[in-house]
Amino acid sequence: MAKQVVILGAGYGGVKSALTLARESGRNEVAAALINKHNYHQFITELHETAAGLHGDSATRVPLSAIFDGTGIRIIKDTVLGILPGENRVVLERGTLDYDYLVVGLGSEPEYFNIPGLEQYSLTLRSLNSAKLIKTQVENNFARFKAAPLKRNLLTVVVGGAGFTGIELAGELADWLPDLAQQYDIPERAVNLTLIEAAATILKGHDRYLIDNAYRVLREKGIRIITDVSIEGVTENDIKLSGGEVIRYGTFIWTGGIRANRVVMRAGFTTAVRGRASVNKYLQSTDFPNIYLVGDNAFITNPATGEVMGPTAQVAIQSGHVAALNILADIRGGDLQVFYPRELGRVVSLGRNVAAGKIGTRYKPQGRIAGFLKEAIQWKYLYSIGGFRLVAKKFLKN
Ligand code: FAD
Repeated sequence: MAKQVVILGAGYGGVKSALTLARESGRNEVAAALINKHNYHQFITELHETAAGLHGDSATRVPLSAIFDGTGIRIIKDTVLGILPGENRVVLERGTLDYDYLVVGLGSEPEYFNIPGLEQYSLTLRSLNSAKLIKTQVENNFARFKAAPLKRNLLTVVVGGAGFTGIELAGELADWLPDLAQQYDIPERAVNLTLIEAAATILKGHDRYLIDNAYRVLREKGIRIITDVSIEGVTENDIKLSGGEVIRYGTFIWTGGIRANRVVMRAGFTTAVRGRASVNKYLQSTDFPNIYLVGDNAFITNPATGEVMGPTAQVAIQSGHVAALNILADIRGGDLQVFYPRELGRVVSLGRNVAAGKIGTRYKPQGRIAGFLKEAIQWKYLYSIGGFRLVAKKFLKN
């Protein structure tokens, strides 16, 4: 009888797992279901562009039917409420589902570090809807300013956290806000974009080269960058910083931390840093060998180097693929494959078509060349997820 494989989350890891199962499984070997709370896959790596008004919905999402029609994968649009590993069952909003094998790829959610008011008053950039909310709020504030020109704070946009997400968002906003000011006939100098980072440097933990280039480009774009200062509290209008400064804001976006989806923690897996579940070198949960964790949900160490892998789409796709192969190997009684993550490079976009990064160990592109390379890398991922149709869709950016 076909083994029941349930995949939670149609992000980079989950979609890749499902596609690999569809491609590599034999007739009646598995019956696979992919569960996601939306009926589309979203290009999370592009959300900063949507938040900054660069393009609309359809460029950042693709219907799951466009990826899976004809593959035999059953798509279930539902929200996962819980996992019961002891019973091999998942609890959904609209019922339960039993499995022989489970792949967990539910992605991340913001981490607020118990900072007073942070969760309540900040926006985040984790989904297409959250990206649209940022765009709408910024635009609304510009429109409101026209009616209340004394409320200068409406034109102040603050990004909290200068990791990859915060940097990419700030770079994109810096290009968009002047256009928006012109559209609303507001002097550009009245608009303020501030980036706050608690560490001593932006992009903490990355190459000096990447840090210096990103800093220079963002400063040239007019962004105020505050480092070594932490956010102590947030109210409806103010952000209180260590050191005493208070920033009156109109829009505040928190990009300062993520943790694994709380469904993972609640399921009782042994977790490591920020709620990410412990997995062995085959990506199996160290507690339940018929459960595989992929992407942002897994605490993955490169067995070749001992390096702890960051939460990236690159690793999510690769881990999704290997998890599916290992499920098939297990069903067939074969050897499981050790997961060796490969990072092609790190490229951070710094606004429209400009980026800085590192490809492999030596090549250090910046400016438009890096922007072009980042696009090329993204296309490679898209291709590995959805083939030519997805790449074409992104290219057309409708
Ligand atoms: P996700 O892609 O987050 O997918 C999780 C899926 O689960 C989603 O479809 C979600 O809707 C669904 N889901 C969540 N909860 C539930 C639930 N309870 N029930 C049902 N469904 C649920 N990485 C790179 O490698 N390169 C980049 O350039 C890059 N840029 C980024 C830019 C931004 C703005 C952001 C936010 C992230 C970026 N990342 C980048 C990181 C990358 O996007 C993540 O590491 C990657 O998305 C993780 O993939 P995943 O499959 O683990 O989860």
